[in-house]
Amino acid sequence: MTTKSRENTGRKRRRMTRLQRERQLRMRLLICCGVVLVLSGLFAAPEIRAALGRRQIQRDMEAELDAARPQSVPERQAAGGEAEGQEGTAGDSDILVGENAVVEPEVVREKKTVYLTFDDGPSMDVTPEILDILKKNDVKATFFILNYGEKSIPILERMVREGHTIGIHGYSHDYAEIYASEDAFMNNIQKLHDKLLEDVGYDARIVRFPGGSSNTISEKYKKGIMKKLTKRLEKEGWKYLDWNVSTGDAEGNNVPSSQLVKSVKSELKPEQANVVLLHDTSSKQSSADALQNIIDFGIENGYTFCPVTEDTTMVHHKVNN
Ligand SMILES: [Zn+2]
Repeated sequence: MTTKSRENTGRKRRRMTRLQRERQLRMRLLICCGVVLVLSGLFAAPEIRAALGRRQIQRDMEAELDAARPQSVPERQAAGGEAEGQEGTAGDSDILVGENAVVEPEVVREKKTVYLTFDDGPSMDVTPEILDILKKNDVKATFFILNYGEKSIPILERMVREGHTIGIHGYSHDYAEIYASEDAFMNNIQKLHDKLLEDVGYDARIVRFPGGSSNTISEKYKKGIMKKLTKRLEKEGWKYLDWNVSTGDAEGNNVPSSQLVKSVKSELKPEQANVVLLHDTSSKQSSADALQNIIDFGIENGYTFCPVTEDTTMVHHKVNN
């Protein structure tokens, strides 16, 4: 080998080595890029999967909402009536429950109950005697009063103080006058109501018709007036009470007390609220005389004596005019 050819061979080796190095570098670069690509792909995949998952969940939710919407909207639309109906039903059932809650115990309470009611007073003699008997027995009652004089105010105050209730019988008891027209009747009760409110501070809202709501005497003065008055009273916030136990003390002024007691004994019914009609005018001494025996009979037979209040279930007669 000549020196020249040795130099050539050396140059060739160096060139090859350079070429090899360059190739090796390119290979390394490629491998690096590949690794970076693979690694970045590996790292990116979960993000993509998560993103895809989120999008899927969102799509599922939207689908659910879409699925819910077309159902709920027409339901709401269609049930606009239905929903109201349901509300109405719920309301009604609430009312029913409410009513039952009030009425049922009331009905239970009113069984074996006696409401002693005294009409046409107050009188200066019989009424205080009746109040004494009621007080002695711790029995509360109800007085349906007529117009009264100034001297009677302490008696009315005593009624209230001792736990009795007061109802309106009327400023006047004159059938011709009070049943002449609806307005005449309404004015008649309003006048006494206002007077009592002013004198005693008592707001009486329960009315007893002179003659009861079943009276036919009123027909002589105004045909059909009782039908109108019974409705109008309730419409205007009043209540009216008739009776279902009659002592018979209205049939005369000297009905023996024993007969009054006998009537009550035969008419009291344990399964009902017993509204007993009595009178406390001066001419009804026998009613006061019968009272202790009536109370004794009631207590002995398990009856409870109560005053009439606005919560009491009103006993009404059949209206005949
Ligand atoms: Zn009367």
